[in-house]
Amino acid sequence: QRTIPNTPTIPFIAGDGVGAEIWAASQPVFDAAIEKAYGDEKKIFWQEILAGEKAFEETGSWLPDHTLDAIEQAKVALKGPLTTPVGGGIRSLNVTLRQTLDLFACVRPVRYFEGVPSPVKEPEKTDMVIFRENTEDVYAGIEFAKGEAETQQLIQLLQEQFAVKNIRFPETSAIGIKPVSEEGSKRLIGAAIDFAIAQKRPTVTLVHKGNIMKFTEGGFKLWGYELAETTYKDTCFTMNQYQAIKQTEGVATADAALNEAKAQGKIIVNDVIADNFLQQILLYPEKYDVIATCNLNGDYISDALAAQVGGIGIAPGGNINYNTGYAIFEATHGTAPDIAGQGKANPSSLLLSGGMLLEYLGWQEAADLITNAIEEAIRTKKVTSDFAHAMDDAVELSTQEFGSLLVS
Ligand code: ATP
Ligand code: MG
Repeated sequence: QRTIPNTPTIPFIAGDGVGAEIWAASQPVFDAAIEKAYGDEKKIFWQEILAGEKAFEETGSWLPDHTLDAIEQAKVALKGPLTTPVGGGIRSLNVTLRQTLDLFACVRPVRYFEGVPSPVKEPEKTDMVIFRENTEDVYAGIEFAKGEAETQQLIQLLQEQFAVKNIRFPETSAIGIKPVSEEGSKRLIGAAIDFAIAQKRPTVTLVHKGNIMKFTEGGFKLWGYELAETTYKDTCFTMNQYQAIKQTEGVATADAALNEAKAQGKIIVNDVIADNFLQQILLYPEKYDVIATCNLNGDYISDALAAQVGGIGIAPGGNINYNTGYAIFEATHGTAPDIAGQGKANPSSLLLSGGMLLEYLGWQEAADLITNAIEEAIRTKKVTSDFAHAMDDAVELSTQEFGSLLVS
């Protein structure tokens, strides 16, 4: 257990595009919530650090060493969206930050705020927390371009030495490698199970394509069940175990297995194939709670679920290493260049990400104040332009006005 000082210095990256506006609107909200919750007892000293376009303009580096040092020192940080330079061989700054600090869990809570325009009929039934593996899978960035000598060698090696025969594998192939490890999967799934236990959520669902990618995503599922049945045997009951006992298979048994887990006073760990899952969340979102999934699946699922409850302007996220304690909380949207500088951006994604940071520090009361204030603003239809356009009789506020409303 870490001890959190009452007056920590926490670095923030305002970010590019709409970053400056949403940060300017959000910081007073954080400070006001902390003051309201704790008076003089607690306070955050915000330290600006640079990354992205702003960093490049001021220092010549897209990700200065000082920035990483500051995050390592504080262990936590808050960030807005970053522009990654196109071309020039520079990798996504977001991915670089996650990999450098080994932030293995991308945590995305998905919940509905009453009144938010949504494409589904009963959006309030969606309440999930996604744990996306953040360091492996095709995001490891191991790729070989079409026609390169290395790629040709690899094709030859695979065909001649590893018997990848009778498979269409043209010379014009580009190749990507998908590493999924046992320890990488288990630490992510373990974090999801810990969270479910702590938050008293009844279900952890492993979402995978193990039917097609047997060793990588199939491994993810296998290792998840293994972990639940060994390390977590006192708190978890798995779909695997249920099927072994009852000699049954298939989706129809999911409810029965959940009931069995409840009867044992445990949470259920089950699994679902990713494509089916994307149907299921539209049809039966109430059946899902905590999701653990591989990196690429998690990317698609996070955005699909965010859209289901009102979208990009209000979806928070955190990238966390639960072993070292390093964590970066961030607005999940991009730099939104189309609306930057116009006061139209919704700061809620950054605000709720800041709320996750406060929760991570153990400052739950302050986090709740922020969530409740956003909830109240939306319920009374005082919203930024993204929501105002899709709501009847809404009062459209600028980014800064929305922030000020939450402070008052
Ligand atoms: P990037 O290249 O940085 O990812 P992008 O062009 O993909 O930027 P996004 O930021 O991903 O743009 O946004 C996609 C759409 O959602 C845009 O129309 C943008 O205006 C809108 N959008 C993004 N963030 C917000 C926000 N905070 N409030 C309102 N609208 C937003
Ligand atoms: Mg984008």
